[in-house]
Amino acid sequence: MNMRAGGVNFIRQAEVVARLARELPANSLLFQEESTRGYECDGLSAYREIPMAVALPSNEDEVRAVLRACHEMKVPVIARGAGTGLSGGALPSKDGVLLSLAKMKKILAVDPYARIARVQPGVRNLAISEAAAPYGLYYAPDPSSQIACTIGGNVAENSGGVHCLKYGLTVHNVLRVRGFTIEGELIELGSEAPDAPGYDLLALAIGSEGLLAVTTEVTVKLVPKPEVARVVMASYSDVRTAGDAVASIIAEGIIPAGLEMMDKPATRAVEEFVHAGYDLDAAAILLCESDGTPEEVEEEVARVQAVLARTGATAMRVSTSEQERLRFWAGRKAAFPAVGRISPDYYCMDGTIPRKRLGEVLEFISEMEAKYGLRCPNVFHAGDGNLHPLILFDANEPDQLHRTEQFASEVLRKCIEVGGTITGEHGVGIEKINEMCVQFRPKELEVFHALKRAFDAFALLNPGKAIPTLHRCAEFGAMHVHAGQLPHPELPRF
Ligand SMILES: Cc1cc2nc3c(=O)[nH]c(=O)nc-3n(C[C@H](O)[C@H](O)[C@H](O)COP(=O)(O)OP(=O)(O)OC[C@H]3O[C@@H](n4cnc5c(N)ncnc54)[C@H](O)[C@@H]3O)c2cc1C
Repeated sequence: MNMRAGGVNFIRQAEVVARLARELPANSLLFQEESTRGYECDGLSAYREIPMAVALPSNEDEVRAVLRACHEMKVPVIARGAGTGLSGGALPSKDGVLLSLAKMKKILAVDPYARIARVQPGVRNLAISEAAAPYGLYYAPDPSSQIACTIGGNVAENSGGVHCLKYGLTVHNVLRVRGFTIEGELIELGSEAPDAPGYDLLALAIGSEGLLAVTTEVTVKLVPKPEVARVVMASYSDVRTAGDAVASIIAEGIIPAGLEMMDKPATRAVEEFVHAGYDLDAAAILLCESDGTPEEVEEEVARVQAVLARTGATAMRVSTSEQERLRFWAGRKAAFPAVGRISPDYYCMDGTIPRKRLGEVLEFISEMEAKYGLRCPNVFHAGDGNLHPLILFDANEPDQLHRTEQFASEVLRKCIEVGGTITGEHGVGIEKINEMCVQFRPKELEVFHALKRAFDAFALLNPGKAIPTLHRCAEFGAMHVHAGQLPHPELPRF
């Protein structure tokens, strides 16, 4: 067999490229290694693989043709938006075609009366809000990567952001998705009306990580820009109290527009980078935003301040201008790159827990820092209970990546133990596929596989991601064990 160093079968590659060349213009098909290498990873750069070929369709007809050809040839297809995903969802396969939606970036319609926008999948998240701004509207879900990530990727990952506590995740802000199955069949899920008949397949597609269909058009809700927004920044002398304060704010019946937390190692890294004005004496800070009419904001800020004072805040500041509010947020939004400056490598985790367990899980993370000898600043969407521990490591040091992965795995198991989940917004991808074996029972995983088969009988769309096989779980040795009964005793355990 004719193979190159990376393991690509040249004969197969030639066949696939020849077939795709019948469907795409020459400048929309890449297969030379110098062109395909740029697609070898997403934001989870510890995992890399060069795809056999990269297809860059410009319209739906080309997407359909590529999918049909790959289905006919039984070639895996991995969809890709901007490649900012953090769980390896867009990691290519050396035997597969990477289907980039980057050329499909038209805003097809903005309807200010219906408050919706219809866009192609490669449109950047922020570009939707920019297009809606002249009408006083915006698209609410705001991942920190919003300047780069695409709406197709957001739909696949059910992405969240700072303002999702009040305005909902992607799933709450998308009305309709149009796309193609691996067989090239057109599917339209949801509707522009508030409801659609039949099973809620739209909700199934959102967060399905490119395993069920390739999205080619998305209709999103737009919401009016609030008249005013102000941020309260509060300091705490220990992280547990700060975590408990988050639960107290929500228990008070307040739903802030954003409620974020950062511990001292994170604020220190951020402060050196963007000078956001954070209190560096505090063990943790909370950022709590209120938005609405001036009257609503004034009343909510007063209620928030009362809860913060009652829960032991050592200092408080309220933004007095739009410029100051943006400065407070600039620090939070720059937290990942800021941490990137203080360590050769960092690993951004994503788990979600019930808010009332925040303090306890933070203490657990601190124990893990000692156990694995690795530092871990914490930034998180605290109001959603969505943690982002950032484990610092040096990939050039033997064993550090391995220790990092073990550290991360223990934290994810802790999330499950306290009643949470192994992902909040970054998806499972390849990164957390083993932890899926802990989160779900084999019967549940079988249902997921049955759903996948209903859309993609040969498992060609994004294979090996998001849903582990039962064999994989057995190999990982972490199958969900309920009431002491080992599931599937017939499967070998290694
Ligand atoms: C600095 C930084 C900050 C981040 N902050 C956040 C945050 O605050 N909140 C958050 O939720 N995420 C965040 N992320 C993660 C990431 O930006 C999101 O997951 C985003 O939705 C990925 O979009 P993308 O276009 O880059 O998708 P990609 O990374 O290209 O792909 C992600 C997944 O979507 C699938 N996919 C992409 N396009 C399509 C399509 N058209 N049809 C079917 N499947 C498709 C891919 O196969 C893959 O499984 C952050 C990432 C970075 C690097």
